[in-house]
Amino acid sequence: MDTVTTNAAVRERVRRWRAGGARIAFVPTMGNLHSGHISLIEAARRGAARFVASIFVNPMQFGPNEDFAHYPRTASQDAEMLAAAGCDLMFMPDAQEIYPDGLERATRVEVPELSRILCGQFRPGHFEGVTTVVAKLFNIVAPDIAVFGEKDFQQLTIIRRMVADMCYPIEIVAAPTVREADGLAMSSRNQYLTAAERRIAPRLYGALQGAVRRLAALDRDFAAIERAGRLEPEAAGMQSEYFAIRAARTLGAPQDSAQELVVLAAARLGKARLIDNLKVP
Ligand code: AMP
Repeated sequence: MDTVTTNAAVRERVRRWRAGGARIAFVPTMGNLHSGHISLIEAARRGAARFVASIFVNPMQFGPNEDFAHYPRTASQDAEMLAAAGCDLMFMPDAQEIYPDGLERATRVEVPELSRILCGQFRPGHFEGVTTVVAKLFNIVAPDIAVFGEKDFQQLTIIRRMVADMCYPIEIVAAPTVREADGLAMSSRNQYLTAAERRIAPRLYGALQGAVRRLAALDRDFAAIERAGRLEPEAAGMQSEYFAIRAARTLGAPQDSAQELVVLAAARLGKARLIDNLKVP
């Protein structure tokens, strides 16, 4: 695996691969890799001959009081994990490479509406930062496929919309959420939890499972299910931000029983903000 830090070096490498007829897969990450990220790489390898991963802690997607400065950065460990997973190229730009004129003057890409609901209500500007950096990375790497985790279900939905609206010739592949043995969705931010908090963190997943059980049994009292879903993490000591039943394709309010549903939740626990979701089978 090669590691490069400039847009030009990525383009040069991808151009050569493409000239040889290879399909290119891409996984954007913020590093501090865990098994969830590696599962994306495995999904990507199935659809393409060459594989690029980026590691960039994107300042534009962090709010002023968020954890940008403290976000775990583990470059050499990440490089080892990527190489072991069969990655061909690791792209590790610095902020100057991605935002040469600074954040304030940079062109931004925004998906309206979808970016302002759910997590967007609690993290203003977050998804604009995500779509801006992903649009830039798509233009730099120019992959055939890009893989995103269902763990960040709203992000995946927003990226799909951006790709459709901006006519990117890129296939978006969704990879299922990878969980710890007790059900907690793997996340780089789980390491902010104390041992006591770590023990109660899986209760968010438990609340989602409870809601999905009721929905699968055709309970359609959405308001009552959402209320119960907020109470469960609160009772465990978390501060619930939202617990919402939505149409899986649009993230809009569920209209009729034929739609596929997803339950999404976010809660604060100590220094961590946990997000998770489950589709109704
Ligand atoms: P991040 O480094 O947190 O920006 O995540 C990079 C990619 O990995 C995103 O597409 C995430 O949805 C995905 N991802 C993060 N955690 C998991 C997980 N536990 N299971 C599956 N995908 C994940």
